Formats: sequence, structure tokens, C-alpha cells
Amino acid sequence: MRRKDDLEAIRQRMVAEQIRGRGIRDERILAAMATIPRHHFVPYTKPRDVYRDGPLPIGQGQTISQPYITAYMTDLLQLREASRVLEIGTGSGYQAALLSFLCTDVYTIEIIRAHYIRARKIIERLKYKNIHFREGNGREGWPEEAPFDGIVVTAAAKGKVPVALLNQLNDGGRMVIPIGQSLYDQQLVVYTRKKDRLIEKEDLAVRFVPLVEGSSTSQHVEK
Ligand code: SAH
Repeated sequence: MRRKDDLEAIRQRMVAEQIRGRGIRDERILAAMATIPRHHFVPYTKPRDVYRDGPLPIGQGQTISQPYITAYMTDLLQLREASRVLEIGTGSGYQAALLSFLCTDVYTIEIIRAHYIRARKIIERLKYKNIHFREGNGREGWPEEAPFDGIVVTAAAKGKVPVALLNQLNDGGRMVIPIGQSLYDQQLVVYTRKKDRLIEKEDLAVRFVPLVEGSSTSQHVEK
């Protein structure tokens, strides 16, 4: 079998077993994950191993989530085609790519320059057009483009949720964020805005690298 066909088969199996097999029913998420070449996004790991059921290092002490968690968090956002979504923690760019299949525009912020540059290059090469990148501290959100229909934070906030992000949520919008004091005590929390009210709901126990606190000193560079 050619290498490309081989990876295609591995990717289909990942979707069938890890994603559909564990209860993700949104056909758009399943189709997108069956299409996106995850191995282009993850360095250091052999292409076929990138489709395994676990997190992987992406450099600079950061990790890309296990495919199921990426699908699960995306599913919690309940995006529609007309939605605009903000991601905090671009990392490899994989989740941004997934989001770009599901809605109109994806805004993604990354604090580590090397990741910001690398993710942007890969997405450019794959010609996914509706993703906007910013280098900086995601805790402040992206006020110029707010409000958003969905916000997903892919690093864990210690204790308190960044208020700037909640303020950038549309009426009816949802934010998914891991919150917890330590690696062993984190939970996904879903916030839904209903006019001036915020409804908070705890979800899965998870393990994410910490969200960098404080404000960023790097320049904002926009596409
Ligand atoms: N969503 C990514 C995985 C992200 S790993 C993917 O699909 O690959 C978490 C990322 O969040 C890391 O790249 C880390 O550098 C970034 N990060 C941590 N704190 C941040 C902050 N305050 N603002 C923006 N990005 C942050």
C-alpha cells in the first residue's frame, strides 16, 4: 500500500474507533477529522503514530490533545455554519483546522512565537482560508473581533476563568475551558451566555498544560 493510502486508512480507523466509537455524533466533526491530515501538524512523531489515542508533544513543553478530547471540546461548542469562534492556544494548529471546517471564521491566539509561526505555515500550505492568527496572550481575547459564538481554551486556567473572555461571548454563545489548580485536578467547564446571565456547567475531568498567566510582551501580528 502506498504511504498516503496507509495514513488515510489509519485516519479513518481513528475516526471510527476513537471518535464515532465513543459517542461523537456530529457528522461534520467526523467528516472533518476524516479529512484533516493530522500528521502534518505534529512534529517529532512518526506520521502513523500521530493518529494514536493519546496526547503528543509538539515542542516547547506543549502538547496536542488526544483526538477524542479535541473532538469532544469542539462538539461542546455546538457551532453552526455561520458561527465565529475564538481559540486560545493555537499550538499545532490542528484544532483550528477542525474548527475551520465547521464555521465561518476561526480566530486563534498563541503566546509562543515558534508555535504561532509553525501553525500558520501549515495552515497556509493546506490552504484553509478562514483562520486568522494572532501572537499574544489569549487571556485578553480578541476584542476587535468580539463577540464570538464560541470560545475554546486549550490550556488550563488556574482557579479563575479569564473574565475578558466571558465578556467576548455572544448572547447564546458558549465557552469551553479546562479549569483547575493542578494537572490532577482539572475539569472542563462550559459557560453559556444568556443575555446578562452566565450558566456554568462542569463536564469531563481532563489534563491540560497550564494557560500562561500575566500579560504578553510580544507584538500582536495579524494576518
Ligand atoms: N489547540 C492546540 C493544542 C494547544 S496546547 C492544538 O490543537 O494543537 C496549548 C497551547 O496553548 C500551547 O501552544 C501554549 O503555548 C498555548 N498557550 C498557553 N497559554 C497561553 C495564553 N495565555 N495565550 C495564548 N496561548 C497560550
